[in-house]
Amino acid sequence: MPRKIKFKAELKQMMDIIIHSLYSHKEVFLRELISNASDAIDSHRFRSLTEPELAGGDEEYRIVITADEEAGILTVEDNGIGMTREEIVVNLGTLARSGTREFLDKLKEANSKDYPELIGQFGVGFYSAFMVAAQVSVKSLSALPGSEPVEWTSSGDGEFSVGRGERRTRGTQVVLELADDSKEFLQRWRIEELVRKFSDFIEHPVVLTGGEDGQRVLNSRKAIWLRPQSEVSEEEDVEFYKHLSRDTRDPARTIHFAAEGLLEYRAILFVPARVPFDLLWSPQSAGLQLYVKRVFITDDFDKLLPSYLRFVRGVVDSSDLPLNVSREMLQQNAVVEKINRGLTGKVLGSLDELKKEDRERYVEFIRQFGPILKEGVSADPGNREKIAGLLMYESSREGPGKYVSLDEYVDAAAEGQTELYYLLGEDAAELAASPYIESLKQAGREVLFFTDPVDEFVAGHLGQYKKLKFRAVDRGELEGTQDKEDKEQESKEFEGFLEFVGDKLPEVESVRLSGRLTGSASCLVAGEDAMGPQMERLMRRMGRDEDQLPAGGRILELNPGHPVVVKLRSLFDSGVGREKVADWARLLYEQAVIAEGSRLADPASFAKRVNSLLLSELEKDSG
Ligand code: ADP
Ligand code: MG
Repeated sequence: MPRKIKFKAELKQMMDIIIHSLYSHKEVFLRELISNASDAIDSHRFRSLTEPELAGGDEEYRIVITADEEAGILTVEDNGIGMTREEIVVNLGTLARSGTREFLDKLKEANSKDYPELIGQFGVGFYSAFMVAAQVSVKSLSALPGSEPVEWTSSGDGEFSVGRGERRTRGTQVVLELADDSKEFLQRWRIEELVRKFSDFIEHPVVLTGGEDGQRVLNSRKAIWLRPQSEVSEEEDVEFYKHLSRDTRDPARTIHFAAEGLLEYRAILFVPARVPFDLLWSPQSAGLQLYVKRVFITDDFDKLLPSYLRFVRGVVDSSDLPLNVSREMLQQNAVVEKINRGLTGKVLGSLDELKKEDRERYVEFIRQFGPILKEGVSADPGNREKIAGLLMYESSREGPGKYVSLDEYVDAAAEGQTELYYLLGEDAAELAASPYIESLKQAGREVLFFTDPVDEFVAGHLGQYKKLKFRAVDRGELEGTQDKEDKEQESKEFEGFLEFVGDKLPEVESVRLSGRLTGSASCLVAGEDAMGPQMERLMRRMGRDEDQLPAGGRILELNPGHPVVVKLRSLFDSGVGREKVADWARLLYEQAVIAEGSRLADPASFAKRVNSLLLSELEKDSG
């Protein structure tokens, strides 16, 4: 008697989503079943190298599709590794992957046209069978010696049954009783079309039985990466990318690479146009498939490229690794290391080309993958300069939404400029209006907008770029454009006033005249080595306790050219109304707190001060 088992709750939910929301793309079920069959064959081939007891006969590996129009039944069969009873219950009854909850949430946010990609990438392909089938049976015999055949059946409505099967040969057969609205998938032309569209690059023959010609291999099985680049058309590249990545968009960049000489390997690599879903999903997942002499070895090995290039998708085929290479062997392997170095150089070079050839596309690349690429600045000292050369930022010169490279910054730098200015913040538009960059802007000096929290770490790692030292403009003292004598004169005039204001504002470490302001009256800056306000907020958001933050006191800077500051000093110099001077100086401080995006400690008393000013204005007006 077959046993009935309920699907795990999350799986049930996933199946419902797949069945209902993928409906307009239901033909992907065939791709998914063929892909599973192909995986099962790869797995058998790979494991039997080290577990000879799995080997069995030496019949050719193949995937066979049968369509019985009369019975309304479509089957997909392979002679791969098969499944034991335990395996079938686990593999087809639970979602083994962790984080399914988050995946379900992601799906809800996603655009439904992205579903096929998401679902394919998440690896729940098998359940797409229920979009077309009223009932699905999986008949399997594991390659493990002594295994019993097993049969799994479900109509996708919450439970499945498992019982004894009848299969005599190693492998798996998936039997679909097609639903009435899916009978099209029994038609030969439709099957041929789908296999060519989705599964053409599958390495093993996909055979369609029946019909006039008895049996027909439907896929071309071409190992595109082994052909010279000149013989591969762009369409083929794109098709292959889509096959490989399940991305529905064209890649941003295709890279063919053939290393010859001491080490021989070939690769076809792709830079996706958008962050692949599986990358968000399992951020450390490997993007490359490793082949040895045309034989698929693994797609779960992350040493072929450095982690900061993990968004690259593709295939690497080496002739210098043994076919029975094990995971352990791969981990510390000189060949792998050399391949890694070769591919890294190639990818960085190709990105540099893209940057020169197609700026728009490159900027989009930076938007998508910049945050990942930047990790390389600290992770790969050997390529630090190259990576820095690839980075782009929004800036005060070009304005928000436009990106400049560090080289462009250096080229446009003013004569005698020794620093590369940047300002950290959340949003370029906000930064563009920031008081911190007023005088630099006026002096024609460009300020880069660092809107990614890691930008500051990257700048710290680089220290400088082509002789310009990175410099945060909201910290330390910034030289104004004023000449020295005027400045000294001014300092003297303001000395007493500044001291007085400093006494009245215990919140700040000191008060000084500003070289960075033109339009605003005041701003707060941190000491040169202190943490800026953005960094502070970031740390706070990351859950650091406020007490743990370095007590990097702020310095209040006043703009000596601003009429309010000028008048306030005159009032101070006159020796009367000291109360008022103190009160209004506090107002300048409070403005600066707001301008840097921080919160006022005492908003109520701020409002009181503003209101008393308002009142005196109003009284004046009403006579
Ligand atoms: P994925 O292929 O990403 O793992 P699927 O939902 O397509 O996700 O399949 C779930 C699991 O079921 C596979 O990982 C595999 O263990 C098992 N499986 C599915 N089809 C086959 C098959 N034809 N032969 C052996 N195992 C299979
Ligand atoms: Mg699958």
